[in-house]
Amino acid sequence: MKTLAVLGATGSIGASALDVVARHPDKYRVGVLAAHRSVDALADLCERFRPELAVIADPACAPALSERLRGRGIACRVEGGPAALVAAAAGDRCDTVVAAIVGAAGLESTLAAARAGKRLLLANKEAVVMAGPLLATALDEGGGTLLPLDSEHNAVFQCLPHEHGDLDAIGVRRILLTASGGPFRGRSAAELAAITPAQACAHPNWRMGRKISVDSATLMNKGLEVIEAHHLFRAPAERIDVVVHPQSIIHSLVEYADGSLLAQLGNPDMRTAIAYALAWPQRIDAGVAALDLVKTARLDFEAPDLTTFRCLALAYEALAAGGTATIVLNAANEEAVAAFLDGRLPFLAIAETIERCLAGASGEAPADLAAILDADLTARRQAQRMIAALSA
Ligand code: NDP
Repeated sequence: MKTLAVLGATGSIGASALDVVARHPDKYRVGVLAAHRSVDALADLCERFRPELAVIADPACAPALSERLRGRGIACRVEGGPAALVAAAAGDRCDTVVAAIVGAAGLESTLAAARAGKRLLLANKEAVVMAGPLLATALDEGGGTLLPLDSEHNAVFQCLPHEHGDLDAIGVRRILLTASGGPFRGRSAAELAAITPAQACAHPNWRMGRKISVDSATLMNKGLEVIEAHHLFRAPAERIDVVVHPQSIIHSLVEYADGSLLAQLGNPDMRTAIAYALAWPQRIDAGVAALDLVKTARLDFEAPDLTTFRCLALAYEALAAGGTATIVLNAANEEAVAAFLDGRLPFLAIAETIERCLAGASGEAPADLAAILDADLTARRQAQRMIAALSA
C-alpha cells in the first residue's frame, strides 16, 4: 500500500491522479491533499479521500477550510502556508508525492520531497527548468525515485531501459519529443495578433490547466519540456529534437544507434502516464480506453515553426546560454502568461517579453536555492515592468 501526498490536488493533473487512485483502493491511499486557494474543491476532495492532512498554501484560506471540514464532520488536520506545504511533502504522512502544483510555486515542495527520499511523481516541469541540477542532487541525497508524469517524458522513460547510465552506453542517438502544435498550428504571426485567452486555452487534444494551455499555444510548453528532458535524461540539447504530431497519439520517441525508433502510443489522457508512474515497474488499469489503430488511421508529422512560435527557439537558446537563463525564461513566461490571461498583454507579446528579459540573464550558474529564488524574483520584476510598458 502506497500513501500519497497530492500537491495541486484541485488542478487538472491532481484530478487525473485521484481518478486513478480511486480505482485502486487496495494499492493506494491518500495521506495529504494540498491546493492554493480552492477551499470548496479541496474540502470536497477531503470528504471523498479522507486524508490525514489538508494543506492550503494561502494561509488566509486555512480558517475557512477548517470550518468547512468541521461542518461536514471530517476529522482532518488543516495547515496553511508554503512552509506547511514543504513540510507535508517531506513528512511521514506520505511515501509518494504527486508534484502537480503549477509554476515556480511548486519548486520548494518538489525539492523537499526529493530530499526526503519520496517516490516523486513529477508534473511540475517548471521546478526542473528552474533547478534541474539542485533537484538531481536532492534525489541523490534522498535516495528516492523520480518518475516523470509529463506525457512526453513518461513516454521517453518507457522507451529507455529501466537501469541505465550514460545515454551513449545504451546506444541512444536522439530523444524526440512530440508536440501537438497547439490550437494555432499552421497560423502566421499576423493571424495570432488578436488571439484571446479563451482561444488559447482551447487545446485540440488535451484538457489542461490554463497556464499550460497557453504554454502549449505558444510552444513554450515544448521549450520547457526540452529543458526538462535535458535534466531528467542527462541529454545534451543537440540530441533533443521536437517533431510536431497533431494527433497526440505518439507521446514521444527514442532513436537508437541501430536505427530503431521506439515510441509510446496511447490516447491523449494523462491517466496513462500517471498510472504508469504510480505502479512502476508494474502496470495497472488507468481507466483509459485502448487505442483503436484502425480508427486512428493516420499519424502525421511536421517540423515546428520556430519563427512564428518563437518561444520554443528561446527555450533552446536559454538552455545553451546556461547560467540563470532558464530561470529567467520560466519567470518571464509565468508573468507574461498571467498578464495575457488577465487581458493585460497581447498573445504575441508573451515571446517579446521573454526575449527581452533573457537579455538580462547572468552567465553565472546559481549556487543554491537562494540564488535561484533571487534570479526568479529579479526576472519577474523586470518582466512586470516590461508588461506594464507594453500594455500602456
Ligand atoms: P491547474 O491550473 O489545473 O492546477 C494547478 C494546481 O496547483 C491547483 O491545485 C492549484 O490550487 C495549485 N496551485 C497553484 N498555485 C499554487 C501555490 N502558489 N501553492 C500551492 N498550490 C498552488 O494546473 P495543471 O494541473 O494543468 O498543471 C499542473 C502542473 O503539471 C504544471 O506544472 C503543468 O505544466 C504540469 N503538467 C500538466 C499537464 C496537464 O495535462 N494538465 C500535463 C503535463 C504537465 P488552486 O486550485 O487552489 O488554485
